Amino acid sequence: MDRRHVLKALAMTPLLTPNWSFSAQQHKFDAVVVGAGVFGMWSAWYLRQAGLSVAVIDQSTPGHSGSSSGGESRVTRTGYGDSELYTEWSHRSLAAWKKLSEASSLPLFHPIGMLMVHQEDDPYVMASKAVLKKFGIPFKALNTKQLRNNYPVMKVKDGERGILEPNAGGLMARRGVQTLAVKAAQAGVHIFQGTVSPIDSTRSRQGALTEIEYKHGNGIGRIQAENFIIACGPWLDKVCPEAMANRLFVTRQEILYFQASREVTGKLPTWATLPYYGLPDIEGRGFKVANDTHGTRVDPSKVNRHVHDEVIQQTRLFLAERFPGIANQPLLESRVCQYENSSNGDFVIDLHPGLNNTYVVGGGSGHGFKHGPAVGRYVTDRVLQRGTVIEQLSLESKATVQDRQVI
Ligand SMILES: Cc1cc2nc3c(=O)[nH]c(=O)nc-3n(C[C@H](O)[C@H](O)[C@H](O)COP(=O)(O)OP(=O)(O)OC[C@H]3O[C@@H](n4cnc5c(N)ncnc54)[C@H](O)[C@@H]3O)c2cc1C
Repeated sequence: MDRRHVLKALAMTPLLTPNWSFSAQQHKFDAVVVGAGVFGMWSAWYLRQAGLSVAVIDQSTPGHSGSSSGGESRVTRTGYGDSELYTEWSHRSLAAWKKLSEASSLPLFHPIGMLMVHQEDDPYVMASKAVLKKFGIPFKALNTKQLRNNYPVMKVKDGERGILEPNAGGLMARRGVQTLAVKAAQAGVHIFQGTVSPIDSTRSRQGALTEIEYKHGNGIGRIQAENFIIACGPWLDKVCPEAMANRLFVTRQEILYFQASREVTGKLPTWATLPYYGLPDIEGRGFKVANDTHGTRVDPSKVNRHVHDEVIQQTRLFLAERFPGIANQPLLESRVCQYENSSNGDFVIDLHPGLNNTYVVGGGSGHGFKHGPAVGRYVTDRVLQRGTVIEQLSLESKATVQDRQVI
């Protein structure tokens, strides 16, 4: 089947919504983004806002169930220990999420606040407070008594403290990505479906990638571009094996939703008593609870997506200690997802080592969702060669052994 036939077949392929744009004529763009997750879609959005012709290609649909952006909800917070980068990025990103949420018929952001429970003098929280103060981001320090009075659903141990970010809250993940994809398509971003073959820098022309090859059904297609952004989440090392070179660690993560309405949880915001974190019931989905500890390493295409019984039991034990009123509530829903971790938890946003027009974007490491807009802006700056290069996000700074630093 030649390209003309593939493009014709694709044009007839019913995609997620009639708003997806598709041009059977155009197959050369200023920028092609591979991956329609939160990083890819925000990159496409800002590249298009900068006036570039942009296409996005994904093996499935934006925010699909197997992707890392495909879950129901995500926590957003700005407290990040001493990391000014992630504090600033999540703060700026939240403004963009709010703007998108305001333009959406269904909410993308629930401004219910974010509470981290901690030990007195916890160095991470002390550092967070200093950075939040520096950026003028509001927070409230709560003592044991205030925690107990404010959140009676939660069992607070003697001496525990809390830091509340009143402006933070919960993002609707899958809905957010889909909403952005529809907006991007309306703004002229072309969205294709196809599975892109691994990028091979030995086939470059003067150090540049000229086209990518993708499979769709039984056909093979090609798209040409001046710039390529490879934002393949947990598949990043499969599409960019040379660049990632054993520096992506995909882990299996389990999430549970228990029946506990807001009448039960009161004004409890999104919360973290690490390693557990969660959200109160949002839009009737139940009380979300998950363990942030990295699970076993998996292949995202083959991961067993049945939650293990032991995890349900362990979670109930945690709930019995921390939220006793919820420990025996019925399980409403469960989900298995994956973190696409870099070695230390810092994102990877860098030029492909063998290609001078191809950017590798990923390593969200279990905390990337909230930063989607800032990632998209930074990618756009890199493509347009403006702004400063952030060494912390380079490939070079990543190791082949996992040593998590970013929480
Ligand atoms: C359980 C869980 C809880 C989390 N909680 C939070 C949280 O509370 N707060 C927070 O900020 N972050 C959180 N995160 C992290 C965040 O969700 C991820 O970091 C983020 O969604 C990653 O987005 P991405 O665009 O890099 O990847 P993805 O969303 O996976 O997107 C990658 C896309 O690339 C496509 N693709 C891959 N290979 C190909 C190919 N060959 N051809 C074409 N397309 C391809 C895929 O189909 C996919 O759509 C959590 C993640 C998980 C899993």
